[in-house]
Amino acid sequence: RAQERVFNFAAGPATLPETVLRRAQSELHVWRGSGMSVMEMSHRGKEFKSIIEKAESDLRTLLQIPSEYSVLFLQGGATTQFAAVPLNLCSPADAVDYIITGSWSDKAFKEAQKFSKPTIIWSGKPEKYTKVPSFEALQQNPDAKYLHICANETIHGVEYKNYPTPKNPNAVLVADMSSNFCSKPVDVSKFGVIYAGAQKNVGPSGVTIVIIRNDLIGHAQESTPIMLDYKIHAENNSLYNTPPCYGIYMCGLVFEDLLEQGGLGEVEKKNVKKAEVLYNTIDGSNGFYKCPVEKSVRSLMNVPFTLEKPELEGEFIKEAAKENMVQLKGHRSVGGMRASIYNAMPLAGVQKLVAFMKDFQARHA
Ligand code: PLP
Repeated sequence: RAQERVFNFAAGPATLPETVLRRAQSELHVWRGSGMSVMEMSHRGKEFKSIIEKAESDLRTLLQIPSEYSVLFLQGGATTQFAAVPLNLCSPADAVDYIITGSWSDKAFKEAQKFSKPTIIWSGKPEKYTKVPSFEALQQNPDAKYLHICANETIHGVEYKNYPTPKNPNAVLVADMSSNFCSKPVDVSKFGVIYAGAQKNVGPSGVTIVIIRNDLIGHAQESTPIMLDYKIHAENNSLYNTPPCYGIYMCGLVFEDLLEQGGLGEVEKKNVKKAEVLYNTIDGSNGFYKCPVEKSVRSLMNVPFTLEKPELEGEFIKEAAKENMVQLKGHRSVGGMRASIYNAMPLAGVQKLVAFMKDFQARHA
């Protein structure tokens, strides 16, 4: 019982594939004949070099990343990228556009105010962050250097199903993909920069992945700290300073696992199925459960829902935990419940959750 795994519905750090954890366990104290753990290796040695190169190459295969893009394995979380993006892509006087679909794009916008002149060109706040704008109606700034979006709002459960194009032909689309990274195929060539913290879909916290078109590298503002300058990291293959070696190794194991599953097309099919099972249960509950997000932009990864009787929330969480389903409490800013069903959440976990939800409803309706 003490060794039993639960179904972990946390938004991040989040559940990892059990196969990956077991593989890591088997290699924990000695990595493949190297005589030491990955945690003990020099980041400049040939063993670690092979680990980071394999991780990058597998990620390139998964996302079919074009050769004119660099892949960086960084630290500081996606939050650091909120500053790194404006610092690298524009001057302090430059206009940049932000679409606000939830708390995370709002945080990115606020940080950008320190390093550029950002404009909110659309905000879903009046509708409590339940929508994505219609792209035709967007009033983009013709001089904006980039258009920033959060591809999946982890807290509000709003996910873009396709992407806007910057109006200025010289501008690029920048996306925070922290919470739907590698959950489905993405046409990387539509973006100038994609960034993501690893701790939802692809590894432990501590690794931040940046995918950036090469011509955007090398234009950082003069005051940019060296650790935020994409050029430094690109020129040094993410080894300018000591990288989060063990985390990168873990991401590499996850990438291998995703490839073994048949790649992101197959992964997406599984994610669509899981999300359908859960949303259908919510929508079929006669209002006992409700998801406020507009159907066309509901997230495949983070499913927020409320109970018709909010006084039952505590009971719901407690009973679910007794059945080994944990971390279902919604974010404190929105309340209710949230089930995060990232790549590593098996269909069985979602099926168990919906069986519990139906039973809970039958007992409390
Ligand atoms: N962006 C999104 C969409 C997130 O979900 C999160 C974290 O949950 C962040 C940014 C912040 O990431 P980090 O904690 O890695 O800085």
